[in-house]
Amino acid sequence: MSNVVEYVRHGPVALLTIQSPPVNALGAAVRQGIGEGLSRGLDDAEVKVIVLTGSGRMFSAGADIREFGKPMKSPNLVELIDTIEGCAKPVIAALNGMALGGGLELAMGCHYRVAAPAASAGQPEVKLGIIPGAGGTQRLPRLAGVEAALNMIVRGDPVPAAEALKLGIVDELIEGDFVAGAIAFAGKQAGAAPRRTRDLDDKVRNVGSSVFEDFKKSIARRARGYSAPYRCIESIENAVKLPVDEGFARERAIFAECLASAESLALRHVFSAQRRAADIPDIPKDTPVREIRSAAVIGAGTMGGGIAMNFANAGIPVKLLETSREALDRGLEILRKNYAATVSKGRLTQEKMDACLALITPAGGYDDIAGADIVIEAVFEEMGIKKEVFGKLDKVCKPGAILATNTSTLDVDEIAAATARPESVIGTHFFSPANVMKLLEIVRGKETSKEVVASTVKLAKAIRKVGVVVGVCDGFVGNRMLHGYQRQANFMLEEGALPQQVDKVIHDFGFAMGPFAVGDLAGLDVGWRIRKAQAKTRPSGLRYSAVADKICEMGRFGQKTGAGWYKYEAGKRAPIPDPEIEALIIKESAERGIARRDISEQEILERCIYALVNEGARILEEGIALRASDIDIIWLNGYGFPPYRGGPMFYADTVGLKNVYDAVSRYNDEQGQFWEPAPLLAQLAKDGKSFADYAAA
Ligand code: NAD
Repeated sequence: MSNVVEYVRHGPVALLTIQSPPVNALGAAVRQGIGEGLSRGLDDAEVKVIVLTGSGRMFSAGADIREFGKPMKSPNLVELIDTIEGCAKPVIAALNGMALGGGLELAMGCHYRVAAPAASAGQPEVKLGIIPGAGGTQRLPRLAGVEAALNMIVRGDPVPAAEALKLGIVDELIEGDFVAGAIAFAGKQAGAAPRRTRDLDDKVRNVGSSVFEDFKKSIARRARGYSAPYRCIESIENAVKLPVDEGFARERAIFAECLASAESLALRHVFSAQRRAADIPDIPKDTPVREIRSAAVIGAGTMGGGIAMNFANAGIPVKLLETSREALDRGLEILRKNYAATVSKGRLTQEKMDACLALITPAGGYDDIAGADIVIEAVFEEMGIKKEVFGKLDKVCKPGAILATNTSTLDVDEIAAATARPESVIGTHFFSPANVMKLLEIVRGKETSKEVVASTVKLAKAIRKVGVVVGVCDGFVGNRMLHGYQRQANFMLEEGALPQQVDKVIHDFGFAMGPFAVGDLAGLDVGWRIRKAQAKTRPSGLRYSAVADKICEMGRFGQKTGAGWYKYEAGKRAPIPDPEIEALIIKESAERGIARRDISEQEILERCIYALVNEGARILEEGIALRASDIDIIWLNGYGFPPYRGGPMFYADTVGLKNVYDAVSRYNDEQGQFWEPAPLLAQLAKDGKSFADYAAA
């Protein structure tokens, strides 16, 4: 008998329980086990009805992702579901917990479904660039109707049990003892004829094509650049248009096409990269972690306020320390407005807002934060001030407190050296707006203890951030790469391009905005201030584009001043190309003696993206990032790199590192400065290898 599917008889009911932790994935052994259990139930004359359920928190999370793309051992999921649906005795799926993807498809192949109140059902395949491939697009509309099926399959989000009941996906919710309730429900079906989902057609008859056209329009913005959502719609439409067997056959064909697509490869890479990121090779899983039950944030400016919100949202009380009562009140007021805006959009209840605000309290002084489990410093970006703050923290904070800095450019090791406990100091680099952006670069200093790193990785999860551990260097991973990208975008303006042209190429590649539109949104004055400070130490022979500085000198700081790289109509955010800026750029080219030329879209794309890749290769080689996939996660979560391209390093692998290297070398020949190929890129290209190969080695 199977050791992953338990078979127990309760009178006329055969109860099959999937026992394959952690998520009851439908790998070969589980499929075989279910198949065996079914046969046994069918062969036993005493058994009148069969119940299939899961153990633990899940009914089943669906296919075993490790089997993707490999030949499937028999029975495959489609065969198994066909067998179940064809059974002469009623088969009931008892959803003890989540039924996702193939798990829900399996349940829909059963003749009836009951669910625990805490269960949920979903078809998240689209998030991996595929469509449900075991009948989901044909059976879900038959149970729940076309509109609900479109919503669930194309958006990929699960629905709770109560909603599944309303939609007709499940027949009954079971309160109290779940297994006993499921068996009792089954008892009532004993002797009844099976009700086969494939034969239900009430909800797929007489559905016009306008439903599908309207739905496509409704997702156009969000699904830009993706194909899987549209393939899902196509397959659901087949449930309406085609005989059921043809619908199933087309679904399998579309599934296979999606599985082989670049989009799905990229999204599956992202899926596993995200999980891998929390894994730090030299820090064992059982490293003790410091509990974080209270926090303090120093500096209630742009970042401090957002950082405090993260803690409050996760139910962790947080104290805010400022230089003056006015500064603190200003910070608290912004924070309150932020929450209120979310409430007014209906994405937060007033109750939850009040609860969060109650967790954020002013600190009277350093003594007041002495007991915090973690302190995050978010004061002005000046080494002198940071050192002073850390010196004070060292004096007052309890032993074992984590002392974190949100610096974006300063040396975390130097900050740590201002304390007598550098092992407790770490960088937590949040991105703006800190309450919204998912990314958290966790900067490990040379003295940071493993315990503190592990605790911060765990904290990232608790406050719902994507934490990626990086090393100390100027700009860490994300911003260090960003500089090269922005530099090339600026140089291309001097050589012949215009902001709208560069932005269009980057937008078409899949970013929400190109570098110039992003600059206008973020505000151009911040970078200007930094560049002015750097001017004294900038090597004179190094190429430098002054266009951005000149725009700032005109008082154009972006959207907030109504003009930047673009101009803006009052109250609107759509960038409008500005002839004044065009003239400024052309004049700049002339003054620098650069003959303007047509710059192709391909050149724009390569110079922006390969600048990222080349710097990424250096970062990897220096060990600042642990793996190429970590760099991808940083760019996906902090900089809007399009997920369906998998991140800059994955994208480079798909282009082929030899091709990337050749282009970088060519730009190095043409442009010199800033394009010297990273040694790792050169080596991998020469060996015919990829960043993924490098990671595997
Ligand atoms: P900000 O100027 O908006 O806020 C800084 C706050 O710190 C001010 O309210 C100021 O009153 C307070 N402050 C200054 N000295 C203090 C002291 N000694 N004690 C207590 N409070 C003090 O700056 P910001 O944009 O929030 O940046 C804060 C830190 O976060 C900087 O290190 C910055 O580099 C980093 N950072 C900023 C961004 C961003 O996009 N703004 C992104 C990532 C990281």
